[in-house]
Amino acid sequence: MNPMMKTVTYSKNIFLPVTDLCRNRCGYCSFRKELRDAHLLSRTEAARLLEQGALHGCSEALFTMGEAPWAVAGFDRLQAKSGIADLIDYMVELCEMAIEFGLLPHCNAGLLDREDLLRLQPFNASMGLMLETTAKVQAHERSPGKRPDHRLQYIAMTGELRIPFTTGILIGIGESMQDRIEAVGKIAQLQSNYGHIQEVIIQPLDPKLGTDLENAPRPEMADLCRTVEMARRILPAEVAIQIPPNLVDPRPALDVGANDLGGISSVTVDSINPDCPWPGEEELHHHLSAYSLRERLPVYPRFIALGWHGHRTRSLVSDLAGEDGLRAKKYIF
Ligand code: SF4
Repeated sequence: MNPMMKTVTYSKNIFLPVTDLCRNRCGYCSFRKELRDAHLLSRTEAARLLEQGALHGCSEALFTMGEAPWAVAGFDRLQAKSGIADLIDYMVELCEMAIEFGLLPHCNAGLLDREDLLRLQPFNASMGLMLETTAKVQAHERSPGKRPDHRLQYIAMTGELRIPFTTGILIGIGESMQDRIEAVGKIAQLQSNYGHIQEVIIQPLDPKLGTDLENAPRPEMADLCRTVEMARRILPAEVAIQIPPNLVDPRPALDVGANDLGGISSVTVDSINPDCPWPGEEELHHHLSAYSLRERLPVYPRFIALGWHGHRTRSLVSDLAGEDGLRAKKYIF
Protein backbone atom coordinates (compact mmCIF):
# COMPACT_ATOMS: atom_id res chain seq x y z
CA MET A 1 0.00 0.00 0.00
CA ASN A 2 1.30 3.43 -0.94
CA PRO A 3 1.53 5.47 2.31
CA MET A 4 0.91 8.65 0.30
CA MET A 5 -2.53 7.45 -0.73
CA LYS A 6 -5.48 9.06 0.98
CA THR A 7 -7.34 6.68 3.30
CA VAL A 8 -11.05 6.20 2.66
CA THR A 9 -13.09 4.16 5.11
CA TYR A 10 -16.29 2.14 5.00
CA SER A 11 -18.07 -0.36 7.23
CA LYS A 12 -19.84 -3.60 6.40
CA ASN A 13 -23.34 -3.58 7.78
CA ILE A 14 -26.77 -5.02 7.74
CA PHE A 15 -29.79 -2.77 7.70
CA LEU A 16 -32.55 -3.66 10.15
CA PRO A 17 -35.70 -1.52 9.84
CA VAL A 18 -37.39 -2.13 13.19
CA THR A 19 -40.62 -0.46 12.09
CA ASP A 20 -41.71 1.65 9.14
CA LEU A 21 -44.43 3.37 11.10
CA CYS A 22 -43.63 7.07 11.60
CA ARG A 23 -45.32 10.18 12.93
CA ASN A 24 -43.79 12.32 10.16
CA ARG A 25 -44.73 12.60 6.49
CA CYS A 26 -41.64 13.85 4.70
CA GLY A 27 -42.26 14.79 1.08
CA TYR A 28 -39.52 12.51 -0.25
CA CYS A 29 -40.10 9.38 1.82
CA SER A 30 -41.15 5.99 0.51
CA PHE A 31 -40.10 4.15 3.68
CA ARG A 32 -42.95 5.23 5.94
CA LYS A 33 -46.11 3.10 5.86
CA GLU A 34 -49.66 3.64 7.02
CA LEU A 35 -50.69 1.59 10.05
CA ARG A 36 -52.55 -1.03 7.96
CA ASP A 37 -49.35 -1.80 6.01
CA ALA A 38 -46.83 -1.18 8.78
CA HIS A 39 -44.31 -3.80 9.79
CA LEU A 40 -42.51 -4.52 13.03
CA LEU A 41 -39.36 -6.58 12.67
CA SER A 42 -39.87 -9.87 14.47
CA ARG A 43 -37.24 -11.55 16.63
CA THR A 44 -37.05 -14.38 14.10
CA GLU A 45 -36.44 -11.99 11.21
CA ALA A 46 -33.85 -10.08 13.21
CA ALA A 47 -32.00 -13.28 14.16
CA ARG A 48 -31.98 -14.46 10.53
CA LEU A 49 -30.54 -11.14 9.29
CA LEU A 50 -27.97 -11.00 12.08
CA GLU A 51 -26.86 -14.53 11.33
CA GLN A 52 -26.49 -13.65 7.65
CA GLY A 53 -24.58 -10.51 8.59
CA ALA A 54 -22.18 -12.53 10.74
CA LEU A 55 -21.68 -15.10 7.97
CA HIS A 56 -20.85 -12.31 5.52
CA GLY A 57 -18.30 -10.73 7.82
CA CYS A 58 -20.30 -7.62 8.70
CA SER A 59 -19.47 -5.68 11.85
CA GLU A 60 -22.41 -3.29 12.09
CA ALA A 61 -26.11 -3.79 12.79
CA LEU A 62 -27.81 -0.58 11.69
CA PHE A 63 -31.19 -0.33 13.41
CA THR A 64 -33.53 2.27 11.98
CA MET A 65 -37.17 3.06 12.46
CA GLY A 66 -39.74 5.71 11.67
CA GLU A 67 -39.79 8.52 14.17
CA ALA A 68 -41.87 8.18 17.35
CA PRO A 69 -44.12 5.41 15.99
CA TRP A 70 -45.76 5.30 19.42
CA ALA A 71 -47.32 8.68 18.54
CA VAL A 72 -49.32 7.08 15.69
CA ALA A 73 -52.82 6.00 16.71
CA GLY A 74 -53.05 2.20 16.67
CA PHE A 75 -49.35 1.56 17.25
CA ASP A 76 -50.08 -0.13 20.58
CA ARG A 77 -52.18 -2.75 18.72
CA LEU A 78 -49.35 -3.44 16.25
CA GLN A 79 -46.94 -3.69 19.16
CA ALA A 80 -49.18 -6.04 21.14
CA LYS A 81 -49.77 -8.23 18.04
CA SER A 82 -45.99 -8.61 17.76
CA GLY A 83 -45.63 -9.58 21.41
CA ILE A 84 -43.74 -6.42 22.30
CA ALA A 85 -44.47 -4.51 25.49
CA ASP A 86 -42.23 -1.49 24.94
CA LEU A 87 -40.45 -0.51 21.74
CA ILE A 88 -37.29 0.86 23.37
CA ASP A 89 -36.98 -2.27 25.54
CA TYR A 90 -37.36 -4.25 22.32
CA MET A 91 -34.63 -2.18 20.62
CA VAL A 92 -32.36 -2.94 23.59
CA GLU A 93 -33.19 -6.63 23.22
CA LEU A 94 -32.35 -6.50 19.49
CA CYS A 95 -29.08 -4.70 20.23
CA GLU A 96 -28.15 -7.41 22.73
CA MET A 97 -29.00 -10.03 20.13
CA ALA A 98 -26.75 -8.24 17.59
CA ILE A 99 -23.84 -8.23 20.04
CA GLU A 100 -24.33 -11.95 20.64
CA PHE A 101 -24.04 -12.51 16.88
CA GLY A 102 -20.83 -10.44 16.83
CA LEU A 103 -22.28 -7.28 15.29
CA LEU A 104 -22.04 -3.81 16.79
CA PRO A 105 -25.34 -1.94 17.07
CA HIS A 106 -25.76 1.56 15.66
CA CYS A 107 -29.28 2.87 16.29
CA ASN A 108 -30.78 5.67 14.26
CA ALA A 109 -34.19 5.80 15.89
CA GLY A 110 -35.28 9.40 15.30
CA LEU A 111 -35.75 11.88 18.13
CA LEU A 112 -35.75 10.15 21.51
CA ASP A 113 -36.02 11.54 24.98
CA ARG A 114 -33.06 11.47 27.35
CA GLU A 115 -34.32 8.47 29.27
CA ASP A 116 -34.66 6.36 26.12
CA LEU A 117 -31.23 7.45 24.93
CA LEU A 118 -29.77 6.39 28.27
CA ARG A 119 -31.39 2.97 27.89
CA LEU A 120 -29.92 2.46 24.42
CA GLN A 121 -26.50 4.04 24.96
CA PRO A 122 -24.77 1.08 26.69
CA PHE A 123 -25.65 -1.25 23.81
CA ASN A 124 -24.60 1.03 20.95
CA ALA A 125 -21.15 1.47 19.49
CA SER A 126 -22.40 4.78 18.06
CA MET A 127 -25.74 6.35 17.19
CA GLY A 128 -27.06 8.68 14.54
CA LEU A 129 -29.65 11.17 13.36
CA MET A 130 -29.62 13.18 10.16
CA LEU A 131 -29.96 16.90 10.76
CA GLU A 132 -31.01 17.09 7.07
CA THR A 133 -31.40 20.87 6.95
CA THR A 134 -31.82 23.91 9.15
CA ALA A 135 -34.07 25.52 6.51
CA LYS A 136 -37.84 25.56 6.56
CA VAL A 137 -38.67 23.43 3.52
CA GLN A 138 -42.04 22.41 2.16
CA ALA A 139 -41.00 18.75 2.23
CA HIS A 140 -41.05 18.94 6.04
CA GLU A 141 -44.35 20.76 6.43
CA ARG A 142 -46.07 17.63 7.75
CA SER A 143 -43.10 16.41 9.77
CA PRO A 144 -43.07 17.79 13.31
CA GLY A 145 -39.93 15.81 14.07
CA LYS A 146 -37.97 17.64 11.39
CA ARG A 147 -37.94 20.94 13.27
CA PRO A 148 -34.26 21.91 13.06
CA ASP A 149 -34.16 23.32 16.59
CA HIS A 150 -35.40 20.00 18.01
CA ARG A 151 -32.88 18.03 16.01
CA LEU A 152 -30.03 20.32 17.03
CA GLN A 153 -31.10 20.00 20.67
CA TYR A 154 -31.17 16.23 20.32
CA ILE A 155 -27.68 16.09 18.81
CA ALA A 156 -26.47 18.35 21.62
CA MET A 157 -27.98 15.96 24.17
CA THR A 158 -26.14 13.01 22.57
CA GLY A 159 -23.00 15.13 22.90
CA GLU A 160 -23.62 15.72 26.60
CA LEU A 161 -23.97 11.94 26.95
CA ARG A 162 -20.75 11.38 24.97
CA ILE A 163 -22.31 9.19 22.34
CA PRO A 164 -20.14 8.91 19.20
CA PHE A 165 -22.50 10.35 16.62
CA THR A 166 -23.26 10.31 12.91
CA THR A 167 -25.30 13.08 11.35
CA GLY A 168 -25.58 14.72 7.98
CA ILE A 169 -27.46 16.87 5.53
CA LEU A 170 -29.88 15.87 2.80
CA ILE A 171 -29.45 17.95 -0.34
CA GLY A 172 -31.99 18.61 -3.07
CA ILE A 173 -35.09 18.93 -0.86
CA GLY A 174 -35.70 22.62 -1.50
CA GLU A 175 -32.81 24.13 0.43
CA SER A 176 -30.25 26.59 -0.93
CA MET A 177 -26.45 26.43 -0.74
CA GLN A 178 -26.65 29.09 1.96
CA ASP A 179 -28.94 26.78 3.94
CA ARG A 180 -26.44 23.95 3.58
CA ILE A 181 -23.66 26.22 4.81
CA GLU A 182 -25.75 27.10 7.84
CA ALA A 183 -26.57 23.45 8.59
CA VAL A 184 -22.94 22.33 8.33
CA GLY A 185 -21.93 25.33 10.45
CA LYS A 186 -24.35 24.21 13.18
CA ILE A 187 -22.86 20.71 13.10
CA ALA A 188 -19.36 22.19 13.35
CA GLN A 189 -20.53 24.18 16.38
CA LEU A 190 -21.89 21.00 18.00
CA GLN A 191 -18.55 19.33 17.37
CA SER A 192 -16.76 22.26 18.92
CA ASN A 193 -19.03 22.10 21.99
CA TYR A 194 -19.09 18.34 22.57
CA GLY A 195 -16.49 16.66 20.31
CA HIS A 196 -18.78 13.70 19.56
CA ILE A 197 -19.42 14.03 15.81
CA GLN A 198 -17.65 11.22 14.00
CA GLU A 199 -18.95 11.80 10.49
CA VAL A 200 -21.23 14.01 8.42
CA ILE A 201 -23.13 12.43 5.56
CA ILE A 202 -23.73 14.52 2.46
CA GLN A 203 -26.73 12.67 1.10
CA PRO A 204 -28.22 13.61 -2.26
CA LEU A 205 -31.97 13.24 -2.72
CA ASP A 206 -33.05 10.12 -4.58
CA PRO A 207 -36.52 11.17 -5.86
CA LYS A 208 -39.07 8.39 -5.35
CA LEU A 209 -42.16 7.69 -7.43
CA GLY A 210 -45.36 8.49 -5.60
CA THR A 211 -43.79 11.06 -3.26
CA ASP A 212 -44.26 14.84 -3.35
CA LEU A 213 -40.70 15.24 -4.63
CA GLU A 214 -40.93 12.54 -7.31
CA ASN A 215 -40.19 15.10 -10.02
CA ALA A 216 -37.55 17.03 -8.09
CA PRO A 217 -34.23 17.18 -9.91
CA ARG A 218 -31.59 14.85 -8.56
CA PRO A 219 -28.64 16.97 -7.32
CA GLU A 220 -25.94 17.09 -9.97
CA MET A 221 -22.45 15.86 -9.29
CA ALA A 222 -21.00 19.39 -9.56
CA ASP A 223 -23.47 20.57 -6.92
CA LEU A 224 -22.64 17.63 -4.66
CA CYS A 225 -18.91 18.30 -5.03
CA ARG A 226 -19.33 22.00 -4.22
CA THR A 227 -21.22 20.95 -1.10
CA VAL A 228 -18.48 18.51 -0.08
CA GLU A 229 -15.84 21.20 -0.60
CA MET A 230 -17.84 23.61 1.51
CA ALA A 231 -18.31 21.03 4.28
CA ARG A 232 -14.60 20.18 4.26
CA ARG A 233 -13.76 23.86 4.72
CA ILE A 234 -16.18 24.27 7.63
CA LEU A 235 -15.81 20.99 9.53
CA PRO A 236 -12.71 20.19 11.58
CA ALA A 237 -10.40 17.61 10.05
CA GLU A 238 -11.29 14.90 12.58
CA VAL A 239 -14.89 14.78 11.32
CA ALA A 240 -15.21 12.47 8.31
CA ILE A 241 -17.32 13.41 5.31
CA GLN A 242 -19.35 10.51 4.06
CA ILE A 243 -20.75 9.93 0.57
CA PRO A 244 -23.16 6.99 0.09
CA PRO A 245 -21.79 5.00 -2.85
CA ASN A 246 -25.20 3.49 -3.65
CA LEU A 247 -26.57 6.96 -4.44
CA VAL A 248 -23.70 8.44 -6.46
CA ASP A 249 -20.31 7.57 -7.85
CA PRO A 250 -18.23 8.57 -4.82
CA ARG A 251 -14.99 9.17 -6.71
CA PRO A 252 -15.48 12.85 -7.66
CA ALA A 253 -16.59 13.63 -4.10
CA LEU A 254 -13.57 11.82 -2.63
CA ASP A 255 -11.35 13.87 -4.92
CA VAL A 256 -12.63 17.09 -3.33
CA GLY A 257 -12.63 16.13 0.34
CA ALA A 258 -14.97 13.27 1.24
CA ASN A 259 -13.21 10.39 3.00
CA ASP A 260 -15.82 7.83 4.02
CA LEU A 261 -18.36 5.67 2.23
CA GLY A 262 -20.54 4.71 5.19
CA GLY A 263 -22.03 1.28 5.55
CA ILE A 264 -22.25 -1.05 2.58
CA SER A 265 -24.10 -4.33 2.66
CA SER A 266 -24.02 -7.53 0.70
CA VAL A 267 -26.87 -8.89 2.82
CA THR A 268 -29.62 -6.28 3.03
CA VAL A 269 -30.88 -3.40 0.89
CA ASP A 270 -30.86 0.25 1.88
CA SER A 271 -34.46 0.36 3.12
CA ILE A 272 -34.60 4.14 2.69
CA ASN A 273 -33.38 3.94 -0.92
CA PRO A 274 -34.37 0.41 -1.91
CA ASP A 275 -33.80 0.99 -5.64
CA CYS A 276 -30.16 1.91 -5.07
CA PRO A 277 -28.10 -1.23 -4.47
CA TRP A 278 -24.71 -0.89 -2.84
CA PRO A 279 -21.69 -1.70 -4.96
CA GLY A 280 -19.82 -4.81 -3.88
CA GLU A 281 -16.74 -4.52 -1.72
CA GLU A 282 -14.43 -5.80 -4.45
CA GLU A 283 -16.00 -3.51 -7.01
CA LEU A 284 -15.38 -0.54 -4.71
CA HIS A 285 -11.76 -1.51 -4.15
CA HIS A 286 -11.29 -1.74 -7.91
CA HIS A 287 -13.14 1.48 -8.74
CA LEU A 288 -11.38 3.44 -5.99
CA SER A 289 -7.92 2.01 -6.45
CA ALA A 290 -6.45 5.52 -6.27
CA TYR A 291 -7.33 5.47 -2.57
CA SER A 292 -6.35 3.28 0.33
CA LEU A 293 -9.71 1.72 1.19
CA ARG A 294 -9.96 0.52 4.80
CA GLU A 295 -12.75 -1.19 6.60
CA ARG A 296 -13.72 0.44 9.90
CA LEU A 297 -16.18 -0.34 12.65
CA PRO A 298 -19.34 1.72 13.24
CA VAL A 299 -17.40 3.59 15.92
CA TYR A 300 -14.39 5.61 14.82
CA PRO A 301 -10.94 4.89 16.30
CA ARG A 302 -10.67 8.07 18.37
CA PHE A 303 -13.85 7.26 20.26
CA ILE A 304 -12.63 3.73 20.94
CA ALA A 305 -9.51 5.31 22.44
CA LEU A 306 -11.71 7.60 24.54
CA GLY A 307 -13.96 4.71 25.58
CA TRP A 308 -17.11 6.58 24.50
CA HIS A 309 -18.75 3.56 22.86
CA GLY A 310 -21.42 1.82 24.90
CA HIS A 311 -19.94 -0.28 27.69
CA ARG A 312 -21.79 -3.43 26.58
CA THR A 313 -20.05 -3.15 23.16
CA ARG A 314 -16.54 -2.82 24.57
CA SER A 315 -15.51 -6.44 24.57
CA LEU A 316 -16.72 -6.94 20.99
CA VAL A 317 -15.06 -3.70 19.85
CA SER A 318 -11.77 -4.84 21.42
CA ASP A 319 -12.07 -8.08 19.53
CA LEU A 320 -12.98 -6.55 16.16
CA ALA A 321 -10.61 -3.55 16.18
CA GLY A 322 -6.95 -3.64 15.22
CA GLU A 323 -4.24 -1.54 16.82
CA ASP A 324 -5.17 1.45 14.67
CA GLY A 325 -8.83 1.23 15.73
CA LEU A 326 -9.99 0.18 12.28
CA ARG A 327 -11.14 -3.36 11.65
CA ALA A 328 -8.55 -5.93 12.61
CA LYS A 329 -6.94 -7.57 9.62
CA LYS A 330 -7.79 -11.05 10.94
CA TYR A 331 -11.44 -10.22 10.26
CA ILE A 332 -11.02 -8.80 6.79
CA PHE A 333 -12.50 -11.32 4.37
S1 SF4 B 1 -38.00 10.22 6.06
FE1 SF4 B 1 -37.93 9.28 8.11
S2 SF4 B 1 -38.91 10.81 9.41
FE2 SF4 B 1 -39.53 11.32 7.31
S3 SF4 B 1 -41.47 10.21 7.00
FE3 SF4 B 1 -39.83 8.88 6.28
S4 SF4 B 1 -39.37 7.56 8.02
FE4 SF4 B 1 -40.50 9.33 8.80
